[in-house]
Amino acid sequence: MPIASVNPATGETVQTFEPLDAAGIERRLARAEAAFHSYRGTPFAARAELMRRAADLLDRELEAVARTMTEEMGKPLAASRAEVAKCGKAMRWYADHAEELLADEHPAPADVADSGASRAFVRYRPLGPVLAVMPWNFPLWQVLRFAAPALMAGNVGLLKHASNVPRTALAIEELFQRAGFPEGCFQTLLIGSGAVEGVIRDRRVVAVTLTGSEPAGRAVAATAADEVKKAVLELGGSDPFVVLPSADLDAAVRTAVRARVQNNGQSCIAAKRFIVHTDVYDRFTAAFTAAMGALKVGDPMDESTDVGPLASRQGRDDLEELVEDARVHGARVECGGGRPEGWDTGWFYEPTVLTGITPAMRIHLEETFGPVATVYRVADLDEAVAVANDTPFGLSANVWTTDEAERERFVRDIQAGGVFFNGMTASHPALPFGGVKRSGFGRELSGHGIREFCNITTVWIG
Ligand code: NAP
Repeated sequence: MPIASVNPATGETVQTFEPLDAAGIERRLARAEAAFHSYRGTPFAARAELMRRAADLLDRELEAVARTMTEEMGKPLAASRAEVAKCGKAMRWYADHAEELLADEHPAPADVADSGASRAFVRYRPLGPVLAVMPWNFPLWQVLRFAAPALMAGNVGLLKHASNVPRTALAIEELFQRAGFPEGCFQTLLIGSGAVEGVIRDRRVVAVTLTGSEPAGRAVAATAADEVKKAVLELGGSDPFVVLPSADLDAAVRTAVRARVQNNGQSCIAAKRFIVHTDVYDRFTAAFTAAMGALKVGDPMDESTDVGPLASRQGRDDLEELVEDARVHGARVECGGGRPEGWDTGWFYEPTVLTGITPAMRIHLEETFGPVATVYRVADLDEAVAVANDTPFGLSANVWTTDEAERERFVRDIQAGGVFFNGMTASHPALPFGGVKRSGFGRELSGHGIREFCNITTVWIG
């Protein structure tokens, strides 16, 4: 894939970039190693000051950064603005909390004595240069939620961003430079996916984190395993959105629409499978279909647009194939199901609701990365849990119920890294984020995220 910024609303190539050659990659790796050597010893307060300065810059330049993202990957401008603001918040959160999250841990005195030590404690030390392989769908947030904790922990970052968001990738590198982080602390590598393996194998790179698809995750984790290097994987999702009879149905429908079409439907934590109890199925499906059908598809720069284009032609082709396969196997198209009228340029797709889904359809098990919802009717709680778990993925889940026992059942049995009741899944700096099954392993955000790339060092003093 060429490294190029292509406007998905028009198909027009805005700018292309030459990938780094071997010497360019080598220079950056050497710089990362040198930067780590001195940066690892900086006090938390100094790192926090730099991080807050970067957050201030981002706040000031919010509009420009947001426009670049919308131009590169097509999310509505309001969503881009919200993403930039969220990044500033996460950067400040880690600036405020990193020292306490990574404070020395002291076991109980009796256990210390039992180990034969006069003193023993645990210290979280940085690991070194970490490679981040990142996707285009939240081109700023995915990177910052790695970079803020990594830099606050004393690591340095190397970013291999998706090939279709190079301008955002370069803007992030510049942001950290202008904030005053020492040279080499955070660098963008403009490289294709074929060059990733060599970077992971380089002795100076100590760990890798990847957010993206399962094939990319498998390739990156295999190389990391071969080199015995730590890896964190944040992969795809097909989150269930379960509606039970006690739900506030109006709120559930409103949230269901937002949860499905956020980011033009291209979010790992978008609700994708709507699993509805038979007692409320007809009312929910009618209202949900009407609301999805009423969304405005159009130019993502237009403030009144709800759903912009998909980020790439390939992404739309993949989605069309999934819907076609479902249709051929008997799914009913309640609304949408094609390209919207009047949008011949760009990669637009209508908000779509499908019912009558069976396991024979690809869409039952595959991730729909676009504004397409599948709705299932279930007879009872047991069937709701079974259908919710009938997926290779396990990122998050949404459940609508006011019944405490039903909530407990999902907390106990849902195969996912998170479960959100009476609301939609959203990440927050203080809450861990990540999945199980084929959604990956490891966690980002919170104390769990910052400790992923630390050397958990036991100190024992006789
Ligand atoms: P992708 O095609 O897997 O790309 C993600 C990144 O991996 C890009 O930088 C890509 O580079 C690189 N890459 C692709 N194949 C690779 C390989 N064989 N070796 C090394 N690097 C490789 O995914 P995407 O289309 O950008 O993103 C969509 C996927 O990401 C969806 O499945 C979505 O659910 C998932 N996602 C997960 C989370 C989460 O937190 N769990 C968050 C957001 C997205 P190129 O662009 O150069 O190919």
